[in-house]
Amino acid sequence: MSGAPRSFVEFQQRFSIGEACAAYLFAARWPDGFRCPACGHAKAWPNRGKRFTFQCAACSRQTSVTSGTVMHGSKLPLTLWFWAAYLVASHSNGLSALQLKGQLGLGSYKTAWLLLAKLRRTMVTPGRSLLEGLVEVDETEIPCRNKDEPPYGGQGRSHRGKILVACAAEVKERALCRIRLNKIEDFGKASLHAFVKKTVAPGVLVKTDGWSGYAGLEGRPHEPQTLGTMPAHIVLPWVHRVFSNLKRWALGVYHGLRKKHVQTYLDEFAFRFNRRKNRPAGFATLIKNAVQLPGTPYKMLIAAEPAG
Ligand SMILES: [Zn+2]
Repeated sequence: MSGAPRSFVEFQQRFSIGEACAAYLFAARWPDGFRCPACGHAKAWPNRGKRFTFQCAACSRQTSVTSGTVMHGSKLPLTLWFWAAYLVASHSNGLSALQLKGQLGLGSYKTAWLLLAKLRRTMVTPGRSLLEGLVEVDETEIPCRNKDEPPYGGQGRSHRGKILVACAAEVKERALCRIRLNKIEDFGKASLHAFVKKTVAPGVLVKTDGWSGYAGLEGRPHEPQTLGTMPAHIVLPWVHRVFSNLKRWALGVYHGLRKKHVQTYLDEFAFRFNRRKNRPAGFATLIKNAVQLPGTPYKMLIAAEPAG
């Protein structure tokens, strides 16, 4: 029962009814068996009246497999949630809300947008581990636009904004493994040091260019590469490969990122990039995170992200 389906056919066979989805959610939420969220008791009875709901044998509290999770209170059938998670995870570039609406036959754009927004929130695994091996770190600017601006800035408009982005790329045995991307406020020492601390494990070798903002990194050996006449993509090849992919993706998929939700888009890019060799595994990650993360009220989903 565990593990991710490896093809559309396998997915369709496994998750064609709500009960199968609920059983998968149950195992993802309570891998060691049921725990009552109210009292911690391990014994519960299935509630005959309410689907996918269990009643605690000690305190009688009723808990559905989706209560308190990202799927909390959703009116959409579980089979549809599963299809959405599978489509979103297995896509190589990322679906738009409009594409999701069409593929799932949803009634409204708003429903599709909310579903996608909730799934995007599950793309960062709670408590994920810090990067190891050797880590290349660099920063860049990517163009972005406001809601009302045309995708490419119109007739030579130059006031189109920029988003500052830091990237950490984990290299093991000369191969690129995981990446982390964060929007940053500036290229100053405080911002860059905070990013390294948040993404790289202590003691891990950090390779950067010669930019002074990286000087004196705490708790991590640091190897600044003075560029001289050498192009940056030769000194930090992996992180530059990520940046060029990211810029192409941002223009191609969303016609320029919007400032309002930029960290969410960066998280989505990193989610896909980190699973580029095993896309079906992304489905299992989305579902596992969906039952571990609390739901987000609509107002918070549409609100702009806090700065930093
Ligand atoms: Zn209980």
